[in-house]
Amino acid sequence: MPATDAPTPSREQDEPNALPPEVYRQATDQADLAISITDNRANILYANEAFSRVTGYGTGEILGRNESLLSNQTTPRGIYEEMWATLRAGKAWTGRLLNRKKDASLYLAELNISPVQDGAGRTSHYLGMHRDITELHHLECQVRNQKRLIESVVDAAPVVFALMDTQGVVRLDNHEYKKLVTDLGVPEPAHLIMDMACPGWRQKILAQPSACQFVAREARVDQPRGNSRWFSCSCSLIRMHDDSANGFFCGDSMTGLLLAVNDISFLRAEQERARIAALQAMLAEEERIASIRESLSAALFRLEEPMNVMTSAVNLMQRRDPTSARVLNEALAASREYVEGLRQVIPPHGPETHVGVNLNEVLRDVLEICTPRLLAAGVVVDWRPAPTLPHIPARPMQLRVLFKALLENAIEAMNGKGWTRRELTLSTTRAADCIVVRMEDSGPGIPDDVKLHAFEPFFSTKTGSGRHLGTGLARAQQIVSDHGGIIDLEDRNGGGASVVVELRIDGDPL
Ligand code: FAD
Repeated sequence: MPATDAPTPSREQDEPNALPPEVYRQATDQADLAISITDNRANILYANEAFSRVTGYGTGEILGRNESLLSNQTTPRGIYEEMWATLRAGKAWTGRLLNRKKDASLYLAELNISPVQDGAGRTSHYLGMHRDITELHHLECQVRNQKRLIESVVDAAPVVFALMDTQGVVRLDNHEYKKLVTDLGVPEPAHLIMDMACPGWRQKILAQPSACQFVAREARVDQPRGNSRWFSCSCSLIRMHDDSANGFFCGDSMTGLLLAVNDISFLRAEQERARIAALQAMLAEEERIASIRESLSAALFRLEEPMNVMTSAVNLMQRRDPTSARVLNEALAASREYVEGLRQVIPPHGPETHVGVNLNEVLRDVLEICTPRLLAAGVVVDWRPAPTLPHIPARPMQLRVLFKALLENAIEAMNGKGWTRRELTLSTTRAADCIVVRMEDSGPGIPDDVKLHAFEPFFSTKTGSGRHLGTGLARAQQIVSDHGGIIDLEDRNGGGASVVVELRIDGDPL
């Protein structure tokens, strides 16, 4: 059959799925939302069942009444004015109002009012939809109060708190954390501290979050112009709910890192002061014993010289005057016995075992101990430690004695009357298998003839003072060679002396 012969479809056939008006009415009546329709003065013309349920007014008693019947008269005027201004502009309005039910109980209504316009674009009616959100508001307030409470507790705590997500973004912090941002001058101190306390935490948090948990680890932050800051930190994992829309159903919880940091700089400074004081006392004792040892050795050295001469003389006398020679021999034997007795009372070296030592730390200790002397002599110190140094097997106290002696030599060299240039450079560098410590002073330098004998025992150019036995550099060399290292004296570029100590990393003799 040709298409033109087809019968013209009726309107019902055209719109087979058109909504019958009674279904629309029933749907509105039975909707769970309180719905009302008013004239353009807010007089109620229609209210559904839910409206009666929410307000307590039956349909019969509400029709013809104004919506203002629901007002508790405590909603701020401004809200109504803004509502009506919006509606008069032909726009929908959404907001919250405090309503009163028929039984005089109050409820918070979340309301949406839409103007209904006639064919000429004039507002003829209003459609109002609202629901009781009193319980929701109550819960919201509880959550908000709880949040405020937690925030004020966390803010009042004298501990730094930072909560980070898996990307390292700080989601929550406290007052102390904000102070740390200013103090350290870094945007995210939590990252700096985590890097030190838990290296590789950024990878670990994704692959194995539990590896990021730790308790009471210490982190030290060296500030460019100021003292080091010490922190005791703990990090724990917390499960956080994914607040994205996507997370609503598949609701995977996310891992968060809660970092708690305690500033223990004051405590550490106290401990450091006590440690340096103890070190100072131990070094003083070590030096006292060394000086007794050296004085006795020097005395023995000087006693042995005339005794050797006497022994030769006695040998010559033997034939000419055997009686006197015998008497002298007996006297010599007795003297040797006393000398030997004296040798026995030379205090032995203290039993110090080899441990892993960081030379930067040893030198820092020595600088700290010598600070009063350096200040008194007006010496400007340029301390240039290698950023990282491996530990070497060594006797730390012996090394402190060594570097303290070298430092005191340098101070003394620059502290001469009228000598104005007083600069000391102390550096450590790592070279292949060894660590090189270089101490350069701006004193008068060491003449070549002195350099030749400087390491000999009892050699000193300062014979007059009585304090110089001439054993300082000899002892220094002894300590260095005990550690399998070498020590050398060089001329410093631009004048002054330079002492270079090389110590092998594996501790084997060079
Ligand atoms: P009113 O004297 O009624 O009005 C206060 C101010 O509102 C006036 O100063 C005036 O600027 C403005 N205003 C009032 N009526 C009109 C108007 N017809 N045209 C322009 N401006 C006007 N209020 C509630 O408190 N709770 C409700 O649940 C609620 N539901 C509503 C639902 C609909 C569909 C509509 C249209 C209004 C609804 N209202 C509701 C608003 C209500 O009509 C009153 O405006 C409000 O309750 C304040 O009443 P009132 O007696 O304190 O002051």
